[in-house]
Amino acid sequence: MHELEKHIRDIPDFPKPGIVFKDITPLLKDPGAFRRTVEILEEQIRPLDPDLLLGIESRGFLFGGALSYKMDRGLIIARKPGKLPYDTDSVSYDLEYGSATLELHKDAISKGQRVLIVDDLLATGGTAAACAKLVRDQQGIVAGHAFVVELKFLDGRKKLEPDPVSSILAY
Ligand code: AMP
Repeated sequence: MHELEKHIRDIPDFPKPGIVFKDITPLLKDPGAFRRTVEILEEQIRPLDPDLLLGIESRGFLFGGALSYKMDRGLIIARKPGKLPYDTDSVSYDLEYGSATLELHKDAISKGQRVLIVDDLLATGGTAAACAKLVRDQQGIVAGHAFVVELKFLDGRKKLEPDPVSSILAY
């Protein structure tokens, strides 16, 4: 068992029946576990040499922010519609039921910048793939993806191919 696994809490049937929600708040609350998480992710993504980290609303902001500070790289944020104050690009993608949209400020990425996309958890990969599209639409390069948790059985990596994917805990 991984040293960090005990800090992830399973919540059955949240937010709806049949889903086991991986709750990362115990990990955040434990300073050693949070620091270790950021250190491990940083070791994994350093070779990908990102210029910017992109945090996905909202738990991606927590890890993206910490990595940005540690790696001395800028942070950009993909947000739910209507939250960003300046002009935005947006992408819509399918969820299990219905669809979702994420927005990024139009001037977030300069041409050729390497962007590493960060979220707490990789499930089907739809959210991260949508962010990869936003990066490419702004002529950035997707340096890779980093997640704390990966739900392997949903095969989200496939949707992100051929971009590199890092995760710490796989279920
Ligand atoms: P997906 O687009 O299917 O890869 O879903 C990823 C997004 O949904 C991430 O922002 C996750 O935080 C959230 N998510 C999906 N499934 C779970 C789960 N079982 N536990 C916690 N968060 C989840």
